[in-house]
Amino acid sequence: MSDYSQNPVEALRYQAQRGLDNVPGYATGLQFQLSDGPRVYIALSATELVLYLGSDLAVHYDLKGRLVKISDHEQFWRRSLSGRVLHSRKLIAEEGGGIARGVLSDGDARTVVQQIQPHTTAIYEAIQNAATQIELARPSAAEARQRITPVLRLAASFDEPAAARDVQQFQAIYGRVAVLPPDQYNALVLQATEGCAYAGCTFCGLYRGVKHRKKSADEFRKHIHDAVRYHGDGLRARRSIFLGEANALTQPTSILKEFFHVIAEQLELPPPEQPSSGIGASWWLGDEKRFDGISSFLDAFTNTNRTAADYRELRNGGLRRVYIGLESGAPVLLKWLRKPATPEAALKCVQLLKECDIIVGVIVLIGAGGREHAAAHVRETIRVLNEMPLGRNDYIYFSPLVVYPGSQYDTQAMNDAVTPLSVEEVHQQEQEIRLGLRFNLQRGKPYLARYELETFVY
Ligand code: SF4
Repeated sequence: MSDYSQNPVEALRYQAQRGLDNVPGYATGLQFQLSDGPRVYIALSATELVLYLGSDLAVHYDLKGRLVKISDHEQFWRRSLSGRVLHSRKLIAEEGGGIARGVLSDGDARTVVQQIQPHTTAIYEAIQNAATQIELARPSAAEARQRITPVLRLAASFDEPAAARDVQQFQAIYGRVAVLPPDQYNALVLQATEGCAYAGCTFCGLYRGVKHRKKSADEFRKHIHDAVRYHGDGLRARRSIFLGEANALTQPTSILKEFFHVIAEQLELPPPEQPSSGIGASWWLGDEKRFDGISSFLDAFTNTNRTAADYRELRNGGLRRVYIGLESGAPVLLKWLRKPATPEAALKCVQLLKECDIIVGVIVLIGAGGREHAAAHVRETIRVLNEMPLGRNDYIYFSPLVVYPGSQYDTQAMNDAVTPLSVEEVHQQEQEIRLGLRFNLQRGKPYLARYELETFVY
């Protein structure tokens, strides 16, 4: 409860109609005025520490004191564990509207940490100072100070050298995390394999040059142990486990079951009888050991003899979400992209997964094959997606093709005189596919969204 009666001051606003001290997730809060500075509200929830400076700026830390997010009215910075920062900015009408996103240079990413840390230190020092007048507190000033101080101390010490050390620790455990589906950006990544078992699709350079291998059970056990220790209390905000790298599900079912078993030794997954769509936040939110299931990428061209019984065993072991790169429903385009999957294999995979109550994400590569393949790509992708038994908890992602000069795709497109689509044509292709989709009323509509590889940070 706020101390309004003792100190009736206006609470800083969360939204126009709501004071920060009325946000239910913020079980702990303190508001005061910084000397020579703005009014500040410190909010502590089950998953993060947030510092609101006046009504303009919000600075978010995970519970291990790592800077993770900054936002003001116009801009948004998301800092990842690898130290990369994704910057988003609202474009004004003269700029065409919408949002511009881009990953900052390493130097600019370091500057973000450098610029914010003195503010956090000033806030930390203010709440240590008995003379600071607390305007609002929840549940009480003494209790709030006691709960906030340890996390705020960590946040205040997250200066540029501390951030660099943290990135080094991250790299020692993970190397790098190449990509995740958008709804999994918040997952705990665990790498049971390295590289892609195929690495031959012309449009994909994510794992080129990375030797594919699987970790032994002991190696994977140590990796999980190190990852859990590294994330620390930051795990309280992470919802699911993402099994990497690339197509880790290409491993035989028996090996995957062993991996899942190793995960379950250290972390808790929902019981098999819990439906995949029914695992609420109350299961995992704020708990550093609990997750709502295992997610992973799957290619549709290895283990094509896997049966529903195999998938059921994997689901019982914790598998709850699978992401398939369909890319296109047009066999001729898949062949041209050197993706050895057929649309029928992807369709069969999705049918088996849905039969076993596993949530599915299907990824479509928009712009692939340029103008020459566009008509077949749109027509056949609509056909295959409409045959898939997708429903309200599933995902369809539209991922714009990214062509790097000199890449295999680039060379092949030049050799075969394939005309690239303009940005506008790519957008139009996505709309054409979306407009052609028909969903079953009973199953509901999957979530449809863009999947931008270039703005991925972890
Ligand atoms: S698209 Fe998938 S299967 Fe193809 S190279 Fe990339 S990670 Fe491997």
